[in-house]
Amino acid sequence: MGHVDHGKTTLLDAIRKTKVAQGEAGGITQHTGAYHVDVEHNGVTQQVVFLDTPGHEAFTAMRARGARVTDIAVLVVAADDGVQPQTIEAIGHARAAGVPLVVAINKIDKEEAQPDRIKQELMEYQLVAEEWGGDTIMVPLSAKTGENLDTLLEMLVLVSDVEELSANPDRPAKGTVIEAHLDKARGPVATLLIQNGTLRVGECLVAGSVFGKVRAMVDDRRNRITDAYPSYAVEVLGMSDVPAAGDEFDVFLSEKEARSIADDRSVNQRQSRLQQAMASRRVTLSSLSAQASEGELKELNLILKADVQGSLEAILGALEQLPQDEVQVRVLLSAPGEITETDIDLAAASNAVIVGFSTTLATGARQAADREGVDIREYNVIYKLLDDIQGAMEGLLEPELVEEDLGQAEVRAVFPSGRGSVAGCYVLNGQLVRNCNIRVLRKDKVVFSGILDSLRRMREDVKEVNTGFECGVGLPNFNSWEEGDIISAFRMVTKRRTLASR
Ligand code: GDP
Repeated sequence: MGHVDHGKTTLLDAIRKTKVAQGEAGGITQHTGAYHVDVEHNGVTQQVVFLDTPGHEAFTAMRARGARVTDIAVLVVAADDGVQPQTIEAIGHARAAGVPLVVAINKIDKEEAQPDRIKQELMEYQLVAEEWGGDTIMVPLSAKTGENLDTLLEMLVLVSDVEELSANPDRPAKGTVIEAHLDKARGPVATLLIQNGTLRVGECLVAGSVFGKVRAMVDDRRNRITDAYPSYAVEVLGMSDVPAAGDEFDVFLSEKEARSIADDRSVNQRQSRLQQAMASRRVTLSSLSAQASEGELKELNLILKADVQGSLEAILGALEQLPQDEVQVRVLLSAPGEITETDIDLAAASNAVIVGFSTTLATGARQAADREGVDIREYNVIYKLLDDIQGAMEGLLEPELVEEDLGQAEVRAVFPSGRGSVAGCYVLNGQLVRNCNIRVLRKDKVVFSGILDSLRRMREDVKEVNTGFECGVGLPNFNSWEEGDIISAFRMVTKRRTLASR
């Protein structure tokens, strides 16, 4: 990923040329959008598969559909140009996806190249080069001369080692549909990225809700193959229909099972599409509390756009001041400029809310937001913005259960009743309510706590008894009443917590 003209295409071409045997390289067609290269590392040959996602739109679109096809993102920054809007966006996208980022500082062959300036600029986005004490791998290279391309590849293998990205070839294959189309002569053609296991000709699979029986496979070098291993992207013939890009696929050993799963899924899909259409709104600042996800730590994802860098800094500084022990504000992207469709895509893929400060919407952004159900909040006053964010964070907090005092009664007499006993009481203050919580106190010690099971007045069951009235209290699990016991009644209520009161 990276800014336009920073050399993504050239870099991919260069890697392909150096890594793929002559003759074969010419045969590679780019239309698969994915190809693999072999990299020697510590004497072992490993496969790195590149997904050619020139912009980050494709990356984000896949992620919006729940697919995780990218293990490592490579950010290309031209050394003669520096950090640009799309660079910042790409960082945001990689971060939102939670994938490690390796920076390729390109065009170092150029005279104007200043790789150190790029490192400096990237520090503003919390990307600190390893050699400067950080943990981001940055490789200065030239796609044009080929300098340091090997280092980049080695670094990718290294990161995959550290991240323990490994697959098991000895299991049924699974992976993701990279793209698919209908070919007039060959029928549905799907490009599948094998992420685990091995896919073989003749096997049955289900991609999304589409059944398929692999008739033939072609790899990214146009070779017909019978076995596709992890990290290969292959074109597969034999699908019964065209699956959608981003759909996951699994191999099933039984054809019958595969067919029935595909059938079930297509029925479900039809239903859920309907449900989606009905409840199409994603996250809004006000609906966040309802959507507060599981887990101890809750996150509020924000995309921040403002008129100028200065406003951004002020807002970010103020956001940091908000207490974040329970709800964390995650700013996926903060950049000056108008709110664009790319921002909407990122928000939709990451369940984020877009906050605009003294800025406007680019053409098409409003429609995109409506279509995707993305909440855009616009402000001109910082404290109003902060108020709303804080409100949303408080909405995310679990409501607190607190005791609400109902009243006290004194036991004035104890009567036998059946096998147990009933306490004749006088309500001193407040009221007793049937089924409320009670504690029985004797000389300030709690001798019983539980639910007020039976409440009577003049032999009649009643719902409540108020101050100054007498009543009979019976508990199934407690009979050892004594005169002078105090019944303290309360109920549990949920209280919305405010951050300030914590
Ligand atoms: P993309 O938009 O990111 O895919 O960028 P391209 O790969 O199309 O490259 C944009 C321009 O930069 C082209 O004219 C390339 O020839 C040039 N370019 C790419 N990499 C290098 C490099 O390492 N050195 C030099 N000098 N030029 C490069």
